[in-house]
Amino acid sequence: MWLPLVRRYSTRSSGPVVGIIGSGPAAFYTAHRLFRNDPSIKVDMYEANPVPFGLVRYGVAPDHPEVKQVDHKFSEIANSSQFRFLGNIRVGKDLPLSTLSRHYDALVYAYGASSDKILNIPGEHLRGVYSARQVVGWYNCDPQHQDIGISLPHLKDLVIIGQGNVSLDIARIMLSRPEQLSPTDINPLFLQQLFQSALQRLHIVGRRDLTSVSFTIKELRELFSLSSAMFLAPEYTSSLSFLSEQALGTFDRARKRLIKLIQSNIQAAQQRNSTTSTQQKPSKFWGLEFGLTPIEILGRNGQVDKVRFQKTETVRNESTSPSDFVEIPAQAVIRSIGYKSVPLPGMQELGVPFDMTRGVILNNEGHIGPGMYASGWVKNGPVGVISSTMMDSFATADKLYKDWLAQEPFLIGTRAGWDGVRHTVNTPVVSWEDWEVIKKHEIENGLRHESVGEKFRTWEDILRVLHK
Ligand SMILES: Cc1cc2nc3c(=O)[nH]c(=O)nc-3n(C[C@H](O)[C@H](O)[C@H](O)COP(=O)(O)OP(=O)(O)OC[C@H]3O[C@@H](n4cnc5c(N)ncnc54)[C@H](O)[C@@H]3O)c2cc1C
Repeated sequence: MWLPLVRRYSTRSSGPVVGIIGSGPAAFYTAHRLFRNDPSIKVDMYEANPVPFGLVRYGVAPDHPEVKQVDHKFSEIANSSQFRFLGNIRVGKDLPLSTLSRHYDALVYAYGASSDKILNIPGEHLRGVYSARQVVGWYNCDPQHQDIGISLPHLKDLVIIGQGNVSLDIARIMLSRPEQLSPTDINPLFLQQLFQSALQRLHIVGRRDLTSVSFTIKELRELFSLSSAMFLAPEYTSSLSFLSEQALGTFDRARKRLIKLIQSNIQAAQQRNSTTSTQQKPSKFWGLEFGLTPIEILGRNGQVDKVRFQKTETVRNESTSPSDFVEIPAQAVIRSIGYKSVPLPGMQELGVPFDMTRGVILNNEGHIGPGMYASGWVKNGPVGVISSTMMDSFATADKLYKDWLAQEPFLIGTRAGWDGVRHTVNTPVVSWEDWEVIKKHEIENGLRHESVGEKFRTWEDILRVLHK
């Protein structure tokens, strides 16, 4: 169904006019590579939020400022005369895709993963069950998640379901000493609660065994070395078997190191349990539990009370015994089993194929169809860090440019870009200069708290400083 939209150019004397949807790492690295390939390429970057940077702003943990520094590179890219940032425009809602596609040579979908995988078990909708996105958004000042309603002063037992880096981030933030986080740009309201936190036990529970965790070693080491919380040997996975050197030999070097790190910490914790006196122990504890499949979240008066798990090895058994089940107390449960991309309204009409099971736009090396490309998490699924997203976005940009030079068909457009669609947009549009004003205010607000910055926590406050 591409034909009505497609034009084959006879000559291409200048670079394409490209609309990029999203302003996270995938969007910026795609733009960067396009400019490197041909400085005459024009890029308009559309962002749903009034602020740029996607998960770099609202995902990456506040105590990892070195990771957030990629925004310096992104700002350099934005300073290109061929670049335009168009914030506060949700493509598919504030601006139909069909309109957009009529004014560009190419569109790049780089809108990340705005939904979550769910557990699909009874009790998932009880009060006290949160997605990782909500919690991360809360401590990172994402205006969408400021009223999630966790009360740390009333939370003793926390269960995080899922064993990936996002779970480690959340655990580390929840267990850190608040004074260590105060110089960061963490949400000050979250910090206030952290000072009064009653949290005693935090369990990070995985379905599979310890060889299958999705942690990276740096993040895991950070959690093991927290002085404010003590690591506990698994309490619910009693028959945990350790791998011999020979069995470890079947894994690659990185995984072997990760498994060894977990095993040695469990062994140290087992010894500590029997020797450490109560006075020496900190008041917060955390642990890893393996091989447990969540089957129900149980509540009392509509509020989560515990999580019921079944030993994964028995899930397919026809008959089970009571010892195949465990219940872990929790006044809050965080589901951290992955983000998920969803299609944008209007994509189907444009013939953009979306795989609902994998949550990705079907593509071939980033190419979807004539003049349509994908980058980042919506291209490959919500896995990978900023550096892998960068490499992958470079590949998409290279493919786009190669297709352009090869006279492949692109979209039929006026090539007017933003000038062709601006009259149809009714939301207050945030430019790059506006964003710099917002950033300046945030830095100034942070000075009051001796922190690197204090982010606005509502969209209204952001638009107010711009008088929009
Ligand atoms: C909690 C968390 C912590 C992480 N920490 C790290 C870390 O420490 N180090 C690391 O290397 N990686 C980290 N990552 C991974 C990293 O964030 C991703 O690899 C990267 O952000 C993916 O980039 P993206 O551009 O595809 O998606 P995103 O960063 O999600 O960007 C997508 C952008 O598109 C916008 N958008 C969505 N829909 C629309 C629409 N309809 N119209 C216009 N715009 C739209 C969104 O608002 C967003 O700004 C973390 C991820 C998470 C979830």
